[in-house]
Amino acid sequence: MASRAAGTYPPVPEPLAHPVVDTHTHLDICTGVRLPLGAGEPEPEVRPDEDEEFPSLDFFFDTAQSAGVQRIVQIGCDLPAARWTTELVTQQSQQGRSWMLGGVALHPNEAPRLAERGMLDDALTEIESLVASDDRMRVVGETGLDYFRTGEEGVAEQQRSFRAHIEIAKRTGKALQIHDREAHADVLRILREEGAPEVTIFHCYSGDEAMARECADAGYYMSFAGNLTFKNADELRRAAAAAPLDRLLTETDAPFLTPHPHRGKPGGPYLAAVTARKLAEVRGMSEEDLCAAVWKNAETALGGWD
Ligand SMILES: [Zn+2]
Repeated sequence: MASRAAGTYPPVPEPLAHPVVDTHTHLDICTGVRLPLGAGEPEPEVRPDEDEEFPSLDFFFDTAQSAGVQRIVQIGCDLPAARWTTELVTQQSQQGRSWMLGGVALHPNEAPRLAERGMLDDALTEIESLVASDDRMRVVGETGLDYFRTGEEGVAEQQRSFRAHIEIAKRTGKALQIHDREAHADVLRILREEGAPEVTIFHCYSGDEAMARECADAGYYMSFAGNLTFKNADELRRAAAAAPLDRLLTETDAPFLTPHPHRGKPGGPYLAAVTARKLAEVRGMSEEDLCAAVWKNAETALGGWD
């Protein structure tokens, strides 16, 4: 069975009128190097079989370039993925490809599992050294809280890990990318208590309009993924319309959260083009103006790619 072979992916959209950035993607999972975290990401809608074939890195590079998703941020969110990410980001820049920056962290569902085995502190130390090891590593993420996947027994360690990642981002001067699933109030409270890093991004923003105002007041970025296009996402679209233009970012969280009408299929960074078009529609802006704005926001938040 080869359900992830290149032919089964959603078609590559027409190129955007202006390029955008996929500020959060998991090429380690897209290419089958890593399986999804057991209880990690938003519900993996596709679980790879052992004998599945995966597209190569070049497939994701080529499709992203042709859709106008010229830049990406590769995120590794457990230790093996973090090591792989750091190596890949360094290697891509050595090969003269400037499309990729990187980020690493321990996912909020991974932290309690490591803590249980007495490995959380050593893992945090390694995350800090990986993110500090290369100037193209610009993000500490994804970290945060996930009360959907992790039960009460894991909350204390999850919060401790989140606080530690906030400190790492501040010490290393990197941006913080937050995973917040059904934990809005505690995520905002812990950011206030610790003092948020200069650049704080809600990856796969999932709050409502009131929370978007709160994030805007605090200067946080809100990064929108393919779920913005889902049929039942009216509340999320209202939040996207209410957020200030200079706080908006686009991403995929690929291979997850593939946009409508291909929801449930695996995706790649190229599908950030679909989300960007939806964002333009929601904001009542031209595609070109919206894309130019979020492109600039990504540079302001994360620095240059070239
Ligand atoms: Zn993710």
